Amino acid sequence: MRLSESIYWIGGGSVGPGFTAAGDCNVYLLRGPEGYAMVDAGCGERPELIERQLAWDGVKPHEIKAIVITHAHWDHVKGANYWRERTGAKIYAPEGAAEYMLRGGQYAPEARPDGYRIDPTPPDERIAAGETFAAAGLNLTAIHLPGHCAHMFGFFAELDGARVLACGDLFYWGGKVTVFLNPDADRAIFRQSLLRLRDESFSVLLPGHRYPVMQQAQQHLPLAIEEIERQLAGQPAMRG
Ligand SMILES: [Zn+2]
Repeated sequence: MRLSESIYWIGGGSVGPGFTAAGDCNVYLLRGPEGYAMVDAGCGERPELIERQLAWDGVKPHEIKAIVITHAHWDHVKGANYWRERTGAKIYAPEGAAEYMLRGGQYAPEARPDGYRIDPTPPDERIAAGETFAAAGLNLTAIHLPGHCAHMFGFFAELDGARVLACGDLFYWGGKVTVFLNPDADRAIFRQSLLRLRDESFSVLLPGHRYPVMQQAQQHLPLAIEEIERQLAGQPAMRG
């Protein structure tokens, strides 16, 4: 689904619109001068549903030149091997995520009781915090946003005259945040990551679940800060 001149929403599972496999995170394409950068790879189940979106949007798989991973949770990364093979794209991953991806296995969130495993998925490029790199000819700047897990990055891009933040699983419309039981989840660190974003300007937010925010996205940041502060004070997480 094309959201703007240069942003496409091509995957989203049950914690969101449900137009691709239930386990999929949101999967986006950002159009750059040399093709497309895919943001996150989904869970790898029923990839034909993502493929169908590509066809409807007139995107050929081989035009996807980069697969940019926000963090190594299964719903974001398990599809990366499939899409690398299908497209010939390079996988870019946060340096901390790369360790999990190389190893494969059952990494967090580890709550799935069904023996679910991830094949080793060596990234082609390891991205450092603060680094600006070209993906499909598009300049992306990585920002380390720990809290949901220790190694998560967000990526800033300038697209269609707007500053865009692909934030992984940091926060969503209305200030919703998700903190799982993975050992490297930490609400105090989560809060620091949210506070850090107050110094950045962005009007478009492409989160890993729920739905994208195409204007005035920064308005949702103070709501997320309030939410994590409520949780830190021992109150239950926001419903919905
Ligand atoms: Zn996650």
